[in-house]
Amino acid sequence: MRVQCSICDKIEQIDDETLMAKRLRNRPIHTYMCQVCHERIKIRTEERLNTGRFSFHPGQPKKEKVKK
Ligand SMILES: [Zn+2]
Repeated sequence: MRVQCSICDKIEQIDDETLMAKRLRNRPIHTYMCQVCHERIKIRTEERLNTGRFSFHPGQPKKEKVKK
């Protein structure tokens, strides 16, 4: 099947039997990302994690133990 990358609009051909193709067929809303964009995002996420500024729970206040 033909798929279009949601980031760079590159059209790729993927095997109908792959897990990705099955997921896209069942849920057309599920967006496809080409390998290049996938790698780019992975690297960016890792860079953010390495800076230490990346938070998994933004806006969630830290739970502090209050002794009574
Ligand atoms: Zn792409």
